[in-house]
Amino acid sequence: MEKKGLTLEDKINLVTLRPFRDSHLTILDQRVCGDCKGQECTVVCPVKTYEWEEREGRLIVSFENCFECGSCRLACPFDNIAWIYPPGGFGVEFRKG
Ligand code: SF4
Ligand code: SF4
Repeated sequence: MEKKGLTLEDKINLVTLRPFRDSHLTILDQRVCGDCKGQECTVVCPVKTYEWEEREGRLIVSFENCFECGSCRLACPFDNIAWIYPPGGFGVEFRKG
């Protein structure tokens, strides 16, 4: 019999987030995002923090969702994300491993 594990959504629901008022994720140059073909950050982020807004021609960053996994920083081919941890007491809390 196949063993059923937790779905990604199940795992996301195990996490508590306490966002700081200011973003810990900064796009260094929005023009670079406009020229970025793959927009890898929008693909790798498990909680859809990044979304390309076609009408405004800019990348929206919903930093409040961030799980601090670091994938976007590694995936951006232009090193265009300034990434720091939120201050102590804020950000993500993994409660069950
Ligand atoms: S991968 Fe980097 S350059 Fe491309 S859209 Fe995301 S932040 Fe911008
Ligand atoms: S660190 Fe992870 S969860 Fe946070 S924005 Fe980047 S990819 Fe998304």
